[in-house]
Amino acid sequence: MAFADVNRVNTKNEEITKKMEMEKRINHMATHDELTGLPNRISFKQELMNQCDSSRNEHSSLAVMMLDFQGFKYINSALGIQSGNQMVIQMIIRLKAFLGIKNFISRYSEDQFAIIAKDLRNPEDYEAMAQSVASLFTRPFKVDIYEFPVTMNMGISIFSHDIENSKTADDEDSEQISDELIRHANVALLWARKEGKNHYQFYSSDISIQNYKQFELRNDLRKAIEKNQFEVYYQPVVQLETTEILAAEALIRWNHPDWGMVSPQEFIYLAEETGAIVEMGKWMLREICSNSKNWKQKGIPQTKVTINFSSIQFYEKDFVENIKSILDEFQFDPKFLIIELTESLLSKDGDKVMADIQRLQTLGIKVALDDIGTGLSSLAYLNTFNIDVLKMDSAFIRNIMFDKKTAIIARTIVNLARDLEIKLVAVGIENWEQLSFLQEANCHAGQGYLYSRPLPLTEFENILKSGKCDPAFLERTTIDVSEEKRQSLRLDFEPFIEAELTIIKILEKKMNVGNTKILIKNIGPSGLCFISNIKFPIEQEFTLRFTTILFDRKIETHGTPVWIEEIEQGFYQYGVDFTIDQNEREELTETLIEIQAKLTVQ
Ligand code: C2E
Ligand code: MG
Repeated sequence: MAFADVNRVNTKNEEITKKMEMEKRINHMATHDELTGLPNRISFKQELMNQCDSSRNEHSSLAVMMLDFQGFKYINSALGIQSGNQMVIQMIIRLKAFLGIKNFISRYSEDQFAIIAKDLRNPEDYEAMAQSVASLFTRPFKVDIYEFPVTMNMGISIFSHDIENSKTADDEDSEQISDELIRHANVALLWARKEGKNHYQFYSSDISIQNYKQFELRNDLRKAIEKNQFEVYYQPVVQLETTEILAAEALIRWNHPDWGMVSPQEFIYLAEETGAIVEMGKWMLREICSNSKNWKQKGIPQTKVTINFSSIQFYEKDFVENIKSILDEFQFDPKFLIIELTESLLSKDGDKVMADIQRLQTLGIKVALDDIGTGLSSLAYLNTFNIDVLKMDSAFIRNIMFDKKTAIIARTIVNLARDLEIKLVAVGIENWEQLSFLQEANCHAGQGYLYSRPLPLTEFENILKSGKCDPAFLERTTIDVSEEKRQSLRLDFEPFIEAELTIIKILEKKMNVGNTKILIKNIGPSGLCFISNIKFPIEQEFTLRFTTILFDRKIETHGTPVWIEEIEQGFYQYGVDFTIDQNEREELTETLIEIQAKLTVQ
C-alpha cells in the first residue's frame, strides 16, 4: 500500500475511533449523573428490569431502597452549590464503601439515591441492611471547615417469589414490576419522612389513603404546568369602610385529573420540597400579567394583584431580574403588583432578603408581610425591613371573638400599622361579628368569605367590573341532596361510629390502597354521611368502600360522595350515594333494621 493510502486508512481509523468514543461519551452522559459519575434514573430503571428478570428466573429476591436527603438546599444557599456538591460526593463515598460492588447504586434525582440490594434470604436481612445504611448517616459530613448533619429517609420495596406480601406477579412483565417497585419504594419513602428524621419504612399495601394522595400529588406536580392543570383564583381585598375593591389576592389551584380541585395547602409544601415552586411561581406571575392585560382591553378597571412567594423562590438566582423580565414581557405596570412574603423568609438571610426587597420596591413593586399575628416576632422585623402592607392571619381573625388576648393583640396591630403608615389587611373575615370588631378597631382592609370566596377568573371579573364588593350572608356551598332523598330508615349515631374507608375505583381505574379511619354520622339503605380529614373530589367518580362492625354485624358497602362541606379547618363532611344493586340494598336494609332494634333496646 502506498504511503498516502496508509495515511488515509489511518486517518479514517482515527475518525471511526473518535466517533465511537464520542458515542460512548454521549451514551455515558445520557445514562450517568455528571457530578458523581453514578448511573442515573434511566440506567437504574434498565438495571432494575434486568435484575427483576434474573430474580424471576433464579427464584431469588431483591429490594429497591429509595433514599432521600434533606439539608442540601440549606447548604447550597448558605455555602454555595460547590459545597453542596462536595457533600453529595462524600455521601456517595460512604455509601459505596458499605454497599460494595454487589449492590447497585444510582443517583435517582438531585437529592434521591436508589439502591438495588440483592439475594438476601428474608425480610429481616433486608431490614438489617436498611438499618446499616441508615446508620451511615448518623455521623455528620465535613464540608470545608463545617460539619453538617444530614437527614436521610428511606423507602423500601421487596420483590421475591418467597417473601410473603411481595408481588409474585407471573403475569406482569419486568417493566411493570420494576415500575411498581419504584412506585412502592417512593410511597414508603413518603411514609418514612412522616415518621421523622432518619427513618426507613418498608412498603405495605396497607398504606393510608392520605399517603397515597400525597404520593400521587408529588409525582404529578412536575407535569402539572405542561398539562395546563393550574388555575388562578382571585379573592377581592376590600376597603372595610367603603367596600371598594382595593386589590385581589391571586391564589393557585390545581385541577388534578383524579383528585379534582386541590387546594394549595396540600401541594405548596411538596412544590417547595421538590423545587417545582420556582416554575410554578413564574407560571402564576405570567398568568396574572396576562389576565390583567385583558382587563385593560375589556374595559374592566385594573386592580392591584397580590401574589404569594415562598422563601425558596427568593433563593432563585436572579430572582428580581426574572420577575422584571416577566413584567416587561407583558408590559405590566409594576405598581399593580404586590408580593407577599412570610416571616420565615425574613428570619433567614437578612441582608440578601433586605436587598431583594429594596430592589423590588425600586422597580415599583409593593411588598406585603403575610400571616401576621401567629408568630408575633414578625412585628419585630418591621424595624428592619421596609414593608408596605401587613396581612393579619386568618387563624388570628377566627379567634378574636373568643379570646380576649387575641382581641387586644389585634387592636394593637391595627394601631401599630396605622402609626407606621403601613396598610393593614385582615384575612379570613367570615362573619359580621368579626367585621364589626375590625371596623370598630379602624382596620383598613380585609378579605374573607363574608365578602367573597376566591373565585375563578370570569366570576371575579364580574365583581371587579362594579369596583365594589359588599359583605353578604354566607350561603351554604353544598346542597344536601342525598339527605333529602334518604328514605325513612336512617340510623343517626351519637357519638359517631368509627369505620374503615378505602378507595376501590377512581373513574374506571381500579385502586389498591389501604384503609383510613373515618366517622359515620348516619346511614340509610341508599347512602350515608361521614366525616374525614381527607378531601375527596365530588366532581370525580370516586368509588369508596366502607366497612364497620355494629353489634357484631359487619356492614360493608360502597358508594360515591355527592356533596361535601368543610365543617372545620381540615375536616370534611360528605354525603354518599350507595352504588349497590337491589339485592345488596335489601340485605343492607335488613341489617340496618336489626341494628336499629338493638339501638332502641339500649
Ligand atoms: P394565604 O396567603 O394566607 O392565603 C389566604 C388563604 O385563606 C387562602 O387559602 C384563602 O382561600 C383563605 N381564606 C380567605 N378568606 C377566608 C375565610 O374567610 N375563611 C377561611 N377559612 N379561609 C379563607 P388557599 O387559597 O387555600 O391558600 C392557602 C395558602 O397557600 C395561602 O395562604 C398561601 O400561603 C399559599 N398559596 C396559595 N397560592 C399560592 C401561590 O401561588 N404561591 C405560593 N407560594 N403560595 C400560595
Ligand atoms: Mg397570602
